[in-house]
Amino acid sequence: SDPHGEVNLRNSGDKNYVIVDGRNELGEIGVYHLLRETPRNGIYRHCGQTYRVLDIIRSAGRVQVRPDHTRNETTPFIRKEISVRRLLRSADYPSIKIATVRLEVNEYLMSLTEKTPAGTVVQTWPGAAGTPNHRLPTEGTMVALGEPMERSLRSRLGSRFDAAWSSCERVIASLYPTVSGPCDPQDYSSGVTKLSNGQMALVLYDMAYDGVELTRAAMDHMPQLVATAIRLIAGCKCDTDRGCIRCVQDPRQDHMTSKSATLVCLNALSESMHGLSPVMTDHGYGCDDLLITKQQAFCKRCGAKLTTGAKFCSECAAPTQEQV
Ligand SMILES: [Zn+2]
Ligand SMILES: [Zn+2]
Repeated sequence: SDPHGEVNLRNSGDKNYVIVDGRNELGEIGVYHLLRETPRNGIYRHCGQTYRVLDIIRSAGRVQVRPDHTRNETTPFIRKEISVRRLLRSADYPSIKIATVRLEVNEYLMSLTEKTPAGTVVQTWPGAAGTPNHRLPTEGTMVALGEPMERSLRSRLGSRFDAAWSSCERVIASLYPTVSGPCDPQDYSSGVTKLSNGQMALVLYDMAYDGVELTRAAMDHMPQLVATAIRLIAGCKCDTDRGCIRCVQDPRQDHMTSKSATLVCLNALSESMHGLSPVMTDHGYGCDDLLITKQQAFCKRCGAKLTTGAKFCSECAAPTQEQV
């Protein structure tokens, strides 16, 4: 298997777009990078030149740009949705479930913000505005909280629970190379999701189309990962509860982080595994009916997210009946 997720993303499944300025082709870009570098209305720098993205023509696979002399920058706000589709192997403890899973990651543009070099917001474009979403079917490892455990954490942490659970996810993911051996941080990613049975889960997944069995090993190493995460946060020398980028803060996003709330969740995870042998189940390939996250519908023509019950795609106006 190829450990280079970027190569896999480029070669299988991820459609390539051609970036064009009039008749001049500037290069090719896959959807994963298109979302980040050339969303519609975005400012794109390439070979010392500055361009503005005018349009994205999905049917032709083209990103149309024109030269621009602005010194502003645009920042995309990308939302990630993780749908867990199938269990492969699971380790059931009385209050949590750890499992290797098949899953699908959908990333789409929520908004794009343009700022001056001084940081003043010039404009914000809401929604995807014609920028395609990126879909990645892959595999990984999830940790799902049983309902009583989630209820107890929510009653202890209140509104701090969701941010704390996200911090658990980021810290555990950042420590994954300590158990897997050296691997490139670009080869895997992580996120939180809610399963269709309502359970909150955190997921580590391979950044390669269809998966390359990289993050599977997290399942057997979860007790060690949680213990290392606790040591890292409890031992961090930063002096506020909000933490720092070496412990619970997210360098890419400004969450309301809390070291103490994150430790409450991690200690609960640790206690739920301590001294217990999980019930191991190999699900094989016989459980396709186990769609454990409700599927989001996407437009078959343009890939835009569809609103439940809508008759037409809000991006390209294709009738949604064709989708089925
Ligand atoms: Zn810290
Ligand atoms: Zn559409």
